[in-house]
Amino acid sequence: MEVIRRLTELDAAVTIVGFDRLETPFSGVVKAEWLPDILKQVDVLILPAVGTDEEGVISTLFTDQELRLTDAHLAAIPKTCKVITGMAKPYLKKQCDKYHLELIELFERDDVAIYNSIPTAEGALMMAIQNTDITIHGSNCIVLGLGRTGFTMARTLQAIGANVKVGVRRDEAYARAFEMGFEPFYMPELARQAGNIDLIFNTIPTMIVTAQVIAQLPLRACIIDLASKPGGTDFRFAEKRGIKALLAPGLPGIVAPKTAGRIIANSLTQIILEDNRLRGNKP
Ligand code: NAP
Repeated sequence: MEVIRRLTELDAAVTIVGFDRLETPFSGVVKAEWLPDILKQVDVLILPAVGTDEEGVISTLFTDQELRLTDAHLAAIPKTCKVITGMAKPYLKKQCDKYHLELIELFERDDVAIYNSIPTAEGALMMAIQNTDITIHGSNCIVLGLGRTGFTMARTLQAIGANVKVGVRRDEAYARAFEMGFEPFYMPELARQAGNIDLIFNTIPTMIVTAQVIAQLPLRACIIDLASKPGGTDFRFAEKRGIKALLAPGLPGIVAPKTAGRIIANSLTQIILEDNRLRGNKP
């Protein structure tokens, strides 16, 4: 919705598909059927956050009709068109490759990932508060990974008075964590660091909170796994040991949908305006 609003504000010619049940009218926006012909003149095709599934089906909220990105649709799209989505599954990547279309994955961009880390950290904090009986202030936390999400998570916890240990694998990240007042450790140390921990926030998208690590955690500990599905935690073993472990995908859209929409709209419009500038079109 934020994207449609922003594009119309910028005087773009916007056609929307799959919004049959959308109540909010947008002036100047055309509603269309998902037919290949409507794609013949487009400069930009904007797909939902997860572009399509592995069968080419586009996820929709405002229609009961199935929208599928078929070969006929892809063949109709001009070669100069950009296809923009949040993250693309292999099907969409393969099809864009096949039809020589530029595919942009917004969630891969540093700026989008950093802006998104703000609602993500807020959502993780909300989950931590809901799933513990102590204050986060004074609690012993581990953040795994000091990337775009891990940084914000560690800083947010530090700002409300938690004791923050950070698990890293690179010397530069260790030094930066030290400089920022966290207690850094290298990842092979994780099991040894787990003894007196209240909360683990994982941002590493690979199996990292293993059974050996979980075995060292006190039973009161809670694991909040922020990494993309399937996360980096041995959830089966955590359940067996009676330790709370929660996979928490898509937090920006859950805790701050408006902000999440604005982050996407800002980045999208920036890409489109820059593309227009390079093509010498009017702003
Ligand atoms: P990122 O900037 O690439 O950070 C990933 C971090 O993981 C980096 O610090 C990286 O270390 C570390 N890492 C990767 N593999 C590792 C390994 N084998 N051992 C040790 N460290 C390893 O990614 P991000 O943007 O922060 O996103 C992190 C994850 O969160 C992704 O899976 C993303 O999809 C997810 N995410 C979830 C939400 C949500 O709502 N739950 C929101 C946003 C993002 P190096 O720096 O040494 O490479």
